[in-house]
Amino acid sequence: MAAVIKSLEPIETRLFINGEFRESSSGKKFDVIYPYTKEVVAKVHEADVQDVNDAVDAAEIAFPAWRDLGVEKRGEYLRKLSDAITENMEDLAKLETLCIGRPVSQFIDGKSAAGSFKFYAEHAWTVQGTASTNTPGILKLTVREPYGVAGMIIPWNFPLVNFAGKVAPALAAGNTVVLKSSEKAPLTSLYMAKLIKKVGFPPGVVNVVSGFGAPTGSTIAEHMKVRSISFTGSSLTGQKIHAASAKSNLKHVLTELGGKSPTIICDDADLEAAAGSAMFGIQFNSGQVCVASSRLYVHEDVKEKFMVYFQAAMASVKMGDPFSPETKHGPQIDEAQYNRVKSYLELAEKEGKLVVGGNPDDGFFIKPTIVEGLADDSRVMTEEIFGPVVAVQTFKTEEEVIAKANNTDFGLYASVFTKNIDRAIRISKALQAGTVAVNATSPTGTKDSAFGGYKMSGSGREGWLYSIENYLQTKSILIKS
Ligand code: NAD
Repeated sequence: MAAVIKSLEPIETRLFINGEFRESSSGKKFDVIYPYTKEVVAKVHEADVQDVNDAVDAAEIAFPAWRDLGVEKRGEYLRKLSDAITENMEDLAKLETLCIGRPVSQFIDGKSAAGSFKFYAEHAWTVQGTASTNTPGILKLTVREPYGVAGMIIPWNFPLVNFAGKVAPALAAGNTVVLKSSEKAPLTSLYMAKLIKKVGFPPGVVNVVSGFGAPTGSTIAEHMKVRSISFTGSSLTGQKIHAASAKSNLKHVLTELGGKSPTIICDDADLEAAAGSAMFGIQFNSGQVCVASSRLYVHEDVKEKFMVYFQAAMASVKMGDPFSPETKHGPQIDEAQYNRVKSYLELAEKEGKLVVGGNPDDGFFIKPTIVEGLADDSRVMTEEIFGPVVAVQTFKTEEEVIAKANNTDFGLYASVFTKNIDRAIRISKALQAGTVAVNATSPTGTKDSAFGGYKMSGSGREGWLYSIENYLQTKSILIKS
């Protein structure tokens, strides 16, 4: 790890406020730990209430000029940032791995982030209002305007992708930003701040503060000058974000929250392909994915054959050093997350049976794991584990499996495997989820489609032009002639 850190030095750990890096006013710092070796990577400055207030003030002051710059000029900054990401992809990959332990072989985030800044630079033009002459003597214009200061709070599992997926559309739409990264993975957001400074964004347009849920995150969520908030994280914290908006200034809220995604394997599915896809759906990022395919329902007539493929796929995943190019499976992010997954495994063994995988008693690793024999309402079947653990059940009829799949408070993502198009359409329509993938699990890419949750998986949508909509309010101008 020392050599990797040396290649990145100096790692930025300060707050980025009003175009400058500065130490936290409290002097407090917290550790970022590399989950593979448990070594401290960096000590990061923690923003307190005063720091967040300063960041919001800077964003508020920067807002009018940024808004009035217009789409084309704002787009030039976004394009430069996109190029800077592409030029620094290797550093970003290393920092993501040091923070979350995801194998470098699975780093696709840099390309995605660079793509986001380029896409919104080019497409902010297309989100427009309307004009109407339907009422005699009155020209009605409906125009779209940015909110002002956009607050953003992101999780640790895909720090760079979440940064870009929120900051790029907000800036393109003319808002200024105060972003809080996760306390577990703050380094790529700070690296992005370095790039933002380097490419010459006006001071205050983007501010990056590191810190915990409270006080850093809660101060943003409750801030009277923050006009919109975009949050990605757990459903529990999402409820607090909605409540903070309600009790402060009714800021516009976008939430992208947790999931417990079902995968349905019908009796006519290509079983080998479905098994490979189901494996990826629960194993990718060690199961620490909002859309993780964590419940699997297989038709009873094909279960035996499917499980041969599925068990082999799950057992074949190469686990180990995240910096080794062959590694496909890294550790859980930290001790808390590791203990959480372990406790669900213990419960699964008590209430059902563990078929493949488990806890190898080696660092924070949990093997890709299959459990069976659990009741529909058991905790393992209903709660988001956020680890590489899939619970398998069988079904007989379409009606039965749709009811089982929908038997959850979440509604983020669902998959169905079948060769019958009528069945695929029928089941897709019946599933209560923001995205239904046919013959695929996650991630199937959301750049050109909407992404978001039904039920407790969130409110609002990201992806494509849906993201820009979150950062624009609508004004009617009525002109009498
Ligand atoms: P989390 O809810 O614990 O934390 C998310 C962020 O919120 C962090 O930055 C945290 O510091 C902050 N936070 C915590 N309490 C807060 C408060 N009271 N006020 C303001 N901010 C607060 O989630 P996590 O563990 O970082 O991430 C995992 C969760 O995120 C999972 O539930 C996962 O499904 C979800 N997630 C959802 C999506 C999606 O697009 N739907 C994507 C990625 C992750």
